[in-house]
Amino acid sequence: MVGRFAILFLFFFFCGPCKVIPAEGNDSVPYSAELLSRYIRHASVTGHERMAGLFFSTVARQMGFHVEILTDEPASFNFTASLYPLSSGKPNIVLLNHIDVVPAGGNGDYTYPPFSGTISGGKIWGRGAIDNKGMAVMQLMAMKDYLDAASATDLPFNVTMLSVSGEETGGHTGAMIIVENFIDLINPVVVYGEGGSGVPDVLKREPDRKLFGISTAFKRSLWIELKLTMTTSGHGSVPPSSYVVQDKIQALNRLAERNRRIIFSESTRNMFYELGRVEGGLRGLALRNLRLFRPFVVPAMKREEVVYALITNTITITAINTPEGPPNQIPQEIRAILDCRLLPETDVDEFLDKIRRSLGNSKVEMTVIREGIHAPPTRVDEYYEYMKEALLRVYPGSGVIPVLAPASNDNNYFRALGIPTYGILPILLPLHLLETIHNVDERLPVEALEEGTGVYRELIGVLIESGYGISDDLNLTDQ
Ligand SMILES: [Zn+2]
Repeated sequence: MVGRFAILFLFFFFCGPCKVIPAEGNDSVPYSAELLSRYIRHASVTGHERMAGLFFSTVARQMGFHVEILTDEPASFNFTASLYPLSSGKPNIVLLNHIDVVPAGGNGDYTYPPFSGTISGGKIWGRGAIDNKGMAVMQLMAMKDYLDAASATDLPFNVTMLSVSGEETGGHTGAMIIVENFIDLINPVVVYGEGGSGVPDVLKREPDRKLFGISTAFKRSLWIELKLTMTTSGHGSVPPSSYVVQDKIQALNRLAERNRRIIFSESTRNMFYELGRVEGGLRGLALRNLRLFRPFVVPAMKREEVVYALITNTITITAINTPEGPPNQIPQEIRAILDCRLLPETDVDEFLDKIRRSLGNSKVEMTVIREGIHAPPTRVDEYYEYMKEALLRVYPGSGVIPVLAPASNDNNYFRALGIPTYGILPILLPLHLLETIHNVDERLPVEALEEGTGVYRELIGVLIESGYGISDDLNLTDQ
């Protein structure tokens, strides 16, 4: 029923000092590709963002943008590059990206060193090419085309590229600092941040037709520790009728065997409805009428792990351990960790109650280790339509749908404040390139870099064309 729809979400499972830069690239390598190559060479594994941030902010300043360094520390470098100074107070269209990358890692050998930024075979190779430095280059290059217009006329809005640290480890050194300290200064009316790319081969009836998912909501993470302690005789030669390892396994088994309740939340219903519209045919009809076709649709959805995760609250047992001891010693304590992912509408307390009941053992102590921020889904509004229009101008005939993402990223910090926030990497990437994210040989086609720049350029253009009905209630201060 849903076929290869799952690859739309693949992205979410991963999410030296500068030299003088030539003004333009040469014939075969466009400037944007050279810029990305140089940015990749400033290795910026989370916690070491400063040099890369200094490099990229310097480039932006040299291009003519108004640059503000918001925090300047080795492990927390955050800056903005804007058409107008932030102090102008204009309503702001924010294009969000992150400076940090994951370590080289991955399985297998690299064709080119991961921080070499090699340009070869029409691609830019290296850590961050897709996630997320390529996107930053697209945003900056698109905004560059509006610098002259911005100084010649007084646009009713600002456009700001916001580059942050620490996304790969939860955003505490980046997006979190921004929303806590700088949100009034930046004054965003909308944030376009990271998300999945467009993919081919998803639509059954038209495999050549591209499909883009713009994320409007995320599942929230909830990490739980389950501890069971019990004083029993200590020797494994005489097993007590009840002891922690056995009791814990039985409790976890009850939890693992629980039935996952199918929940078609508003976000998933919208997503499948729009997918159904794009898909057409009988399959499309079923997706548009989930209630009616539920008996046929649900079994098919359960067979696709990713899709199944999008219509249920999930619980994954990610660790079980006891204190170290010899093989014949019965431990007195056992811990397990659960990684739970909740649909946006789920009540946490109710969910915890359900876990407690499923475990069926009142002696298990349950502690929430970390709870992801709660962010209500973003409505599909005019800002969604602007991005959709921009995508269609660069990729005519594509399908565009709003999606619920199975994992969270920096977007949620802004969404939690009620700011419309959309996640998308606005390029088309085939599966084999998506699989290089957080893996060996991450690389981005030069063509995709230019197309993505085109989408952001169109996005700003659409905003200008739309007349951008900024009114007083959008906080427009005196210029
Ligand atoms: Zn990322």
